Amino acid sequence: MSRFPELQELMSGNGEFRNETEEEHPGLVEELAQGQHPKFAYLGCADSRVPETEVFGAEIGDLFVSRNVGNQFNIDDLSAETTISYAIAHLGVQHVIVMGHYGCGAVQAAIASESDEASTDIGEARIDTWIRPIRSLFKSSNHSHIVAFREAHADDETIAAPNRTEPAFRALVEENVKQQVRNLADDSSVLKVSLSSPSTELKRSSSSGEEPVELWLHGWVYDVDTGLVTDLGVSVGPSGSADSE
Ligand SMILES: [Zn+2]
Repeated sequence: MSRFPELQELMSGNGEFRNETEEEHPGLVEELAQGQHPKFAYLGCADSRVPETEVFGAEIGDLFVSRNVGNQFNIDDLSAETTISYAIAHLGVQHVIVMGHYGCGAVQAAIASESDEASTDIGEARIDTWIRPIRSLFKSSNHSHIVAFREAHADDETIAAPNRTEPAFRALVEENVKQQVRNLADDSSVLKVSLSSPSTELKRSSSSGEEPVELWLHGWVYDVDTGLVTDLGVSVGPSGSADSE
């Protein structure tokens, strides 16, 4: 390990984590060892700047997490589907939070022209394939900033990666979150509890089998410039969208 002092930093950090956790929440680690009861499922970007437990000031055991490049929830992504299904069916979470972030590299790449290397480099090809749904969203969105950006670059041979302050980039980050909330709402494991079906009682048993739990989906965005989390107001619950109530 001495060859890689940066790894030693992580190991020392783990020692600090154990001490601090025991100091701030005596017995929490042992308690959680008996079983987890997270209140929240979280779908976020793999980006190193958005560690969900830290940015929410939460604790270990609070969030059941799936992260991937661009915080996407796509059909046939067995990893994200399994995580969310498990959180809903077995952990009885009440809230599924999708959180994107401004400055997201996946969204930025989806706006820029496709990489030339995608045809020769397997890593680039994978990235290109993975962000394809976000690219489609960029091409089809009728958000005014995105439409304006597309029109302004309609004659460009190539589109460069936009700066993170570009309004169309910020708008696409938000639109991508909203799209993932819709994808989740259409997912069978979510549908099984009759989300957004006013005619059906949306009551499930919680993991402990006591209180019935309502399921809600939420779309939030994190600002890498300020650390601020904003609710995009697209929550979907037992009787449809929160805004329509
Ligand atoms: Zn990202």
